[in-house]
Amino acid sequence: GLLVGGEARPTVFARMSAKAAETGAMNLGQGFPDDSPPALVAEAAVSAIRAGRNQYPPGLGETVLREAIAEHQAQWYGLRWDPAREVMATTGATEALAATILALVEPGDEVVTLEPFYDQYAALIALAGGVHRTVPITSRSSENGDLVLDVAEEDLRAAFSDRTRLVLVNTPHNPTGLMLWVGALQAIVEEAARHDAIIVTDEVYEHLTFGPAHLPIATLPGAQGRTVSISSAGKTFSVTGWKIGWITARPELITAITGVKQWLTYASGAPFQPAVAEGLTMPSTAFHDIAQDLRERRDLLTDGLRRIGFRVSVPEAGYFAVADAAPLGEDDAAALCERLPAEAGVVGIPLSAFYRDGQAGEAGSYLRLAFCKSRATIEQSLERLEAWA
Ligand code: PMP
Ligand code: GLN
Repeated sequence: GLLVGGEARPTVFARMSAKAAETGAMNLGQGFPDDSPPALVAEAAVSAIRAGRNQYPPGLGETVLREAIAEHQAQWYGLRWDPAREVMATTGATEALAATILALVEPGDEVVTLEPFYDQYAALIALAGGVHRTVPITSRSSENGDLVLDVAEEDLRAAFSDRTRLVLVNTPHNPTGLMLWVGALQAIVEEAARHDAIIVTDEVYEHLTFGPAHLPIATLPGAQGRTVSISSAGKTFSVTGWKIGWITARPELITAITGVKQWLTYASGAPFQPAVAEGLTMPSTAFHDIAQDLRERRDLLTDGLRRIGFRVSVPEAGYFAVADAAPLGEDDAAALCERLPAEAGVVGIPLSAFYRDGQAGEAGSYLRLAFCKSRATIEQSLERLEAWA
């Protein structure tokens, strides 16, 4: 399903952002922020360019960055990694995920993810020749009528088999903002151990949490040795265009992943690496301020959508809320998202974009709307949706 008529199928994000540009619609689709990076992070990149750090960095990343990543994991989560052998920088989480899946999955191996899932996962599993197994994220209404998303422990356990090579965890989760609770993470660790599977965890939204703090699966007993942890600077520091990501894992896994990464990009982002190192060592209050500011925009969007008549999820983390358009008489969010830019002047992503081919019907009347945008953008989007509804 990667190709259509011999041509690469554009990602839903590229297509919907193009639609926003074409129609002048407000873009609550693709998840990139309107904010500027923290001043010290931006200044550090400018200084690094001026200081001449413009040539290939080492393949595994600049020492200053690898040390900052190890330090960050130790300070926030109590996880100890050797920066020389257990940490590597990548071209965003995107390359980290690609190199990891391509290195570790052989044709016919099973890979477990939640469903819906970040769309790159299905593409990578297909590129590696793997078999994609999914665990459904379920939905129901809360007492006040909001949308509650969840995952059942039985469903998690049932997705594993003797052919499971890898389980790809994403918490906080894109597209739902769900954070996996400790029981779910524990079940994953147990099943991975039982089937001798590797855990890969995508934690790019680790600092964008609005309630309980992020819990990395690698901190659970018995998990660290079989876990490849992936994160990125893009979301935390509002620098999605810099493409600085990283991996922490035991040395044998780092070596296997490097074997692929060296043929993908070799290395990238020289001046951005020391700048991200500066960001990672900011005081914790600076991270909390970033999350608090985003939380206010989450509330602005979800309160507004609820007032207009959508059933909404109030996510615990991340960039996105899920809205159910069924109460407005719209049962097919995919069709709605095609019409919405012209009809209402707002772009959203149908949740169906995050399901396997053939499973998109499961997403029904749900769409994903981004709140990592300026207050003005969110307010104007709400006014437009209200006029349309
Ligand atoms: N994983 C998830 C869950 C994401 O949402 C994104 C970006 N939106 C990525 C990975 C890619 O991260 P990066 O931009 O660092 O390549
Ligand atoms: N991760 C971003 C999102 O979910 C998009 C990244 C991309 O365009 N590849 O909106």
